[in-house]
Amino acid sequence: MKEADIVKAIMKYLKTVPGCFCWKEHGGMYGTAGIPDIIACINGHFYGFEVKTESGKPTKLQEATIRKIIAAGGTAMVVRSVEEVRAIVEGNMYGYGVCVNCGAFFIKNGSRQKYCDNPECKKARNRAKAQTYYHRKNNH
Ligand SMILES: [Zn+2]
Repeated sequence: MKEADIVKAIMKYLKTVPGCFCWKEHGGMYGTAGIPDIIACINGHFYGFEVKTESGKPTKLQEATIRKIIAAGGTAMVVRSVEEVRAIVEGNMYGYGVCVNCGAFFIKNGSRQKYCDNPECKKARNRAKAQTYYHRKNNH
């Protein structure tokens, strides 16, 4: 994938995120040197994504800018795919969890999620739910 295509895919994804304002920083002579390719503000949190291909490397100036954004309390990093951006954004929104069934590290898609998306763990969650219901019913 070309860098421009990754940027496009990330922008397309960010436009679906609720509470997100984002823009693409134009490089070249009219852009500000070192500023990440994509800047976003999501629910008050600042993000800077420096987009690179699999083999691409950030310049010294880009690395320094990423450090400055992090020092200022924002989130900034080199990203190589839209999946990485999704994991970062959704992880920040809902947090990370450890699945109570298999112990896997996962990104929550809701604040109360306790099980990962593994089909076996989803089954375990449904069993636990059914049991809670059964106990509640018997207490009446
Ligand atoms: Zn699990």
